[in-house]
Amino acid sequence: MQLKGHVLTPAGFIDGEIAIDAGGRIAGIRGEPVTERVARESAAPLILPGFIDLHVHGGGGRDIMEGGEAAAKVAELHARHGTTSLLATTMTAPEGELVSALRGIAPLCDRSDRAAARILGVHLEGPYIHRGKLGAQPDHVRPFDWTEVQRLRGIAPIRLVTIAPELPGHLEAVQALATAGMRVQIGHSFGRYEDGVEALARGASGFTHLFNAMTGLHHREPGMVGAALAHAQYAEVIPDLLHVHPGALRVALRSIPCAYCVTDSTAAAGMPDGPYRLGGQRVNKCLGGVRLADGTLAGSSLTMDQALRNMVQVLGLGLVEASQRVSTHAADYLCVRDRGRLETGAWADVVVLSRDLSLIAVIAQGRRVDAVAAS
Ligand SMILES: [Zn+2]
Repeated sequence: MQLKGHVLTPAGFIDGEIAIDAGGRIAGIRGEPVTERVARESAAPLILPGFIDLHVHGGGGRDIMEGGEAAAKVAELHARHGTTSLLATTMTAPEGELVSALRGIAPLCDRSDRAAARILGVHLEGPYIHRGKLGAQPDHVRPFDWTEVQRLRGIAPIRLVTIAPELPGHLEAVQALATAGMRVQIGHSFGRYEDGVEALARGASGFTHLFNAMTGLHHREPGMVGAALAHAQYAEVIPDLLHVHPGALRVALRSIPCAYCVTDSTAAAGMPDGPYRLGGQRVNKCLGGVRLADGTLAGSSLTMDQALRNMVQVLGLGLVEASQRVSTHAADYLCVRDRGRLETGAWADVVVLSRDLSLIAVIAQGRRVDAVAAS
């Protein structure tokens, strides 16, 4: 397969073509270098790395916690919006429900034969979080339990764990998880600035939906947000323009070199307004927001193609930086070096966009996906 257009490579835009081999890898990229401005002003398609979303609860009416085939449907829906890799993200729930979700995810993690986003593994969001910062998580919070993590890891690959570090024994937990090769993110946390700094020193390396469900920044009490802005290399942000004010997003992008976009998307993503489930809870999608009955934001209906458009068209980022923040940084964070970049030998995870950043085509590991045009 060959795609022609302005191809964004790690060295900048190339006006030419990208060749994809039968194994789903990039066979070569040929053409002449051009500036980002020339690429943006041309009528030729823009060819960028596929999006990578490390925080996905659902989409297309299905929720990861349903187990079984739900995760496959979620991966298909997000692929139609340009996401070529994702982490299936669990809710805070009793162990039995986590086990059943992970049993549904596990067989999909090694499969490359579907026109869907590749599931790189699991993001365990809780249950080791602070009861006072649940956000939309149901209250199945419990103290960190290493044996439970080991049991869950035996079912499916856990790549990332969101934890509140200020709880008793949780700094040791951060250390144990990081030492075992998992990324540890601070989130759903009542911790102070000092707790965040200490957790980073013990091996935590990111922040879960920065600003949301954590202590905010005050100039005499900088909180967990302050710890992130002062020290983090990586952090998630949800750029749906509902979870975080655009000004606060700008603060994050200016402070945190590799801050990257996630959707925190629910079953309502890619679906019309109406009632959906988020884990065991009922949520309602209305006017672009997904909320519990009391009005609390409960994940999003964001998709990554819209995240890219918001970064460029609302926040004013250049396309090179925006692409890094919807793809490359997340790949680097998970130490996945053959995704999130268009270069020879990498997986052919590709989005093709028009000048207004609507999707024209999506290729996931060399397979064509039915892309959804922007609404
Ligand atoms: Zn979440």
